[in-house]
Amino acid sequence: RVVVLGSGWGGFQLALNLDKSIPLTVVSPRNHFVFTPLLPSASVGTLECRCIQEPVRTILGSNGSYLQAKARTLDTANKRILCESIHNELFEVEYDKLVIAVGVKTNTFGIESIKQAASAHDDVFFLKHLAHARAIRTNIIDSFEQAAIPTVTDAERRRLLSFLVVGGGPTSCEFTAELHDFIKKDVTRLYRELLPHVSITIVEAGPALLGPFDKALQDYAQGLFKKRDIDVRLGTAVVGVEDFEGPGYRFPAKRALFSDGTKHEFGTMVWSAGLAPRTFTEELGDNIARHPRTHRILVDEFLRVKGHEGSIWAIGDAAINETGEPIPQLAQVARQQGIYLGKVFNGKYREDEKPFQFFSLGSMAFMGESKGIYDGSTAGPLRDPNNKSVHHWTPPALRGILAVLLWRFAYWGRQTSVANKIMIPIHWLKAYIFGRDISRY
Ligand SMILES: Cc1cc2nc3c(=O)[nH]c(=O)nc-3n(C[C@H](O)[C@H](O)[C@H](O)COP(=O)(O)OP(=O)(O)OC[C@H]3O[C@@H](n4cnc5c(N)ncnc54)[C@H](O)[C@@H]3O)c2cc1C
Repeated sequence: RVVVLGSGWGGFQLALNLDKSIPLTVVSPRNHFVFTPLLPSASVGTLECRCIQEPVRTILGSNGSYLQAKARTLDTANKRILCESIHNELFEVEYDKLVIAVGVKTNTFGIESIKQAASAHDDVFFLKHLAHARAIRTNIIDSFEQAAIPTVTDAERRRLLSFLVVGGGPTSCEFTAELHDFIKKDVTRLYRELLPHVSITIVEAGPALLGPFDKALQDYAQGLFKKRDIDVRLGTAVVGVEDFEGPGYRFPAKRALFSDGTKHEFGTMVWSAGLAPRTFTEELGDNIARHPRTHRILVDEFLRVKGHEGSIWAIGDAAINETGEPIPQLAQVARQQGIYLGKVFNGKYREDEKPFQFFSLGSMAFMGESKGIYDGSTAGPLRDPNNKSVHHWTPPALRGILAVLLWRFAYWGRQTSVANKIMIPIHWLKAYIFGRDISRY
């Protein structure tokens, strides 16, 4: 009995690769896998949400089952997990081998106003699930329709059409680029009179956008944003949001509070500023060792949880290797770990025979207007940055159209179902030729 907690990159790949004769139970509140790198595209309508997800049940064999629930507590002595269905029913699941692949949640750094507004989808949104992408898309369209009402003042129009992106990592930059493309291509065509009121601001607490990328690519991306009149604020953090009433404002209004003391009115805020452990991971008992700072579950080189070798493994964003260079929290890591564990459970290797070795494919990001960036400097096996004696060939950095072609080809090729492999290029082409769908329903 293999039990997998989570249907994200790690859990889904493991379920996909596990021999169908092995009894498997997947427990996850989400009955589908989401192809997260394409969420920014879905949040502005370049792609439809349904073509970037795969239902879990479609990949299970006759010995596989799926339970739509959250794992709540873990009883390692009796090898049981207490689960809670999304309709609040409590039940237990027994395991022989347990894989924790619950990922992480969005970090709000203890800012209660952000957490509350984002939970209520009150003009503030995270970007982690399909529901977020759909809510962002609806809010963007609503903002344009509200701003088009003749009695709305220009000041209120500017607020409604002020888009604030928080965090300067790849997800935020890709969302910013997608939003800019939507405005340039579709708003110009469909809401022409509102264009002068539109603004995009991206705020990053650190000194540069796209932290994990090579400096030349960071500068290239920032240069592109500058040319497009996107306001890039570096060294600035958002420390809260508040409701306010402005003179002549008819709709409930929100503004962000910046660390430099200024306030910024917005109609839509997308918050993608960091990662925090899930409540389940936080509340695991003391017998599951966690990293003191990140609270990720400590695993050995075979992805086994310390002290529970042979019965519990942890993969993906929720886990961290105990020794060596910390493995990054990336889809490609979780995917490779899921495939690796599939091989272990299928009997290809003994569980302590071949350590997991992450092989990086480099980093990519979509930058809008048919441009992208690809950083090959990290490609290859994970290396010790202090050991300069081993030389590896690394693919060159790419920018512009070549990088975007690579980005499209790589993400298209990674789709699991034939249906998505067909639908994704159709939506790309449709958005390119006819524009994005702005209907709101
Ligand atoms: C918008 C966005 C874009 C990204 N782009 C990239 C990219 O371009 N390249 C890249 O490498 N990485 C990217 N990432 C990061 C990547 O998605 C993560 O590293 C990856 O999802 C981690 O996989 P995982 O399996 O650990 O967790 P997830 O994929 O987050 O899956 C966690 C699963 O656990 C489930 N779950 C949660 N709580 C419980 C519980 N208590 N019990 C049971 N199940 C639970 C969730 O419903 C989910 O199914 C992106 C992330 C986001 C949000």
